[in-house]
Amino acid sequence: MLLYNSLTRKREEFVPNEPGKVSMYTCGPTVYHFAHIGNLRSYIMEDVLEKYLRYTGLDVTRVMNITDVGHLTSDADTGEDKMLKGAKREKKTVMEIAKFYTDAFFADCEKLNIKRPDVVAPATGCIDSFIEVITSLLDKGYAYEAGGNIYFDTSKLSTYYVFNDFNEDDLAVGVREGVEADGNKRNKADFVLWFTKSKFDDQELKWDSPWGVGYPGWHIECSCISMKHLGEYLDLHCGGIDNAFPHHTNEIAQSEAYVGHKWCNYWFHVHHLNTTGGKMSKSKGEFLTVSLLESKGYDPLVYRLFCLQSHYRKSLVFSYENLDNTVIAYNKIIQKIVPMLDAAKSESVDEAAAQALRKGFCDALDNDLNTSLAVTALYDVLKAKTNAATKLALIAEYDTVLGLDLIAHAEAEKKKKAAPTLAIPDADPALVSEVMALIEERKNAKKAKDFATADRIRNELAARGILLIDTPQGTTFTLES
Ligand code: AMP
Ligand code: ZN
Repeated sequence: MLLYNSLTRKREEFVPNEPGKVSMYTCGPTVYHFAHIGNLRSYIMEDVLEKYLRYTGLDVTRVMNITDVGHLTSDADTGEDKMLKGAKREKKTVMEIAKFYTDAFFADCEKLNIKRPDVVAPATGCIDSFIEVITSLLDKGYAYEAGGNIYFDTSKLSTYYVFNDFNEDDLAVGVREGVEADGNKRNKADFVLWFTKSKFDDQELKWDSPWGVGYPGWHIECSCISMKHLGEYLDLHCGGIDNAFPHHTNEIAQSEAYVGHKWCNYWFHVHHLNTTGGKMSKSKGEFLTVSLLESKGYDPLVYRLFCLQSHYRKSLVFSYENLDNTVIAYNKIIQKIVPMLDAAKSESVDEAAAQALRKGFCDALDNDLNTSLAVTALYDVLKAKTNAATKLALIAEYDTVLGLDLIAHAEAEKKKKAAPTLAIPDADPALVSEVMALIEERKNAKKAKDFATADRIRNELAARGILLIDTPQGTTFTLES
């Protein structure tokens, strides 16, 4: 499989360190609020990558952290802790906020068919390993203490800006964010590994450490959690493109300083989902969540298809108009599958035909995870000149990667179609809606064992020449001629 590697800025053949096995790390959510559908775009595309690697026969172990401490509102180590901000907003403790939004995140993932990683590790559960790695970085001379905090010394590295060739001044976080530089830092790009002093000293969660009571910086958690569960050689690291700098740059700096060799071979970055107004936000404009989409009647899997229709390395603009087009596309796919369900029962799979079609699907995903072409390969199956059994087998197979629950939805649609519908007389719409409302009232009266009301409704309608007919599907009526 060819995969674009942000580290080399090239598409490269993906070759794991150990044949047949893949170690995969994903930056998890900061659990101070619901995930927006932009965050979830990243997780959907990473999920497709994981599932495709598994589809090709690789044994993937995937680890994800949960950021429940240390992620500041600014990249420059100067902002408030996002978790504390969330706790203040909701007048709860940080751990209550973390539990609530971690559960909410995985509930969203389930609705979007995003597989739970093999290991999910909250940062607050790994403080000992952070302290161990920071101690070693201090011993090796890659870190220093200043003003009560421990900083990573980026001047000790031959290359720090691994993901970009830009000018150092443009990237240095203090400059980039327009915030005052931290006077404790020896170099502009240095970053905090451990805080004991910050402008915001009412941090709720603090731990004892050799450098005083404090809390970890954000970047150290991903290095430590990854190395703890996946070892010193990582195959694949994923995240949204905003994480490339400074978060992933800092992860590489501290991990490689710690292990003394190259740490991770492939970096997979998903580009952003934007709104028509620009950057997606949790505080400004409409806060786009999975629940919001559901409340507007969208199936979360339609949003998954919306994401699959674009390449992960292109930014994507969300609009309801585009989502509505995806609803139409999704329903069309389902409608095409419905008649295959019965037809396939008496047929057997034509392996030669399946093999030829399968090639289109694999070629698409082998080419830097081109999910939009993989969806086209699905359409190719729908219109292929082969029998229904072969098509259904391929659809089920592709769906282990695409995760659109196509066959289950088609089964549900088939059941819906099979259910007999109630025939309503072709009459004046105002009269139909009046009678249907009275039929509903009568039904409720019967349910409440208020048979007097039920009979009164029937008799009053009969007196007007409207005769009720009870059927197994419900009650309808006819007009006396
Ligand atoms: P956070 O919860 O802020 O730590 O972000 C969780 C993940 O979502 C990270 O991998 C981010 O890089 C990613 N992310 C943030 N904003 C967007 C966006 N608009 N589109 C896609 N991914 C995003
Ligand atoms: Zn991370």
